[in-house]
Amino acid sequence: MPKLESWVMAGIRRQSTWWKHQEIRLFWEPDIHLATVRVVIDELNLLCQAIGLQFKLIPFGSHQSAMIQLKAVTHDNQIDYNRFFDIVVAEDWRNESIGGREHGDIFITTKHLLDDPVSLGCASYTDGCILFALHGQSQHNHTLLRRLVRHEATHLLGLGLHCNEFPVQGYHYNDRCNMHYHLPSGETCPKCLDYLRAFWTHLGRL
Ligand SMILES: [Zn+2]
Ligand SMILES: [Zn+2]
Repeated sequence: MPKLESWVMAGIRRQSTWWKHQEIRLFWEPDIHLATVRVVIDELNLLCQAIGLQFKLIPFGSHQSAMIQLKAVTHDNQIDYNRFFDIVVAEDWRNESIGGREHGDIFITTKHLLDDPVSLGCASYTDGCILFALHGQSQHNHTLLRRLVRHEATHLLGLGLHCNEFPVQGYHYNDRCNMHYHLPSGETCPKCLDYLRAFWTHLGRL
């Protein structure tokens, strides 16, 4: 059996329990099509099924509070995603001491990430958040979108590294694995899937 143990949990900088109720809330801007939203929901569910994990994905649409959060960090049609994640982590909706409920969040926008004309998304396990930046025609390219959603969802679910960044003895390196920066395919290699399984086993959810 290959040794994944030492890699699992190594990327976690601080305690995070956004997953406590296994609930993720989904928000999108009005110019995001429902077909796009469906791909996001489908692909996240497929990844969870692949590792045997159950998350409830709740669609909230263009809820005013989320639009205000996005607007607060948008300048020149670009989103300051670091500030955005800080705002989302600290929001009252997640604060159980004042009636909120811990959860993860996914946001879909058509704006660009700050100083990054290329990337279509970013994600953080510790913050329990994905921001999809589907600028241009990208939301209509469903092949690319599925690869992107799987990739960012894998980051959200705890794999902070890319496939080429953590060789593990006993696993064949697959350069077509979805967990490369350039999204070469929609398939996740056994090493990366086993990482997620080991991760959630550590957290007592598998
Ligand atoms: Zn991989
Ligand atoms: Zn990545």
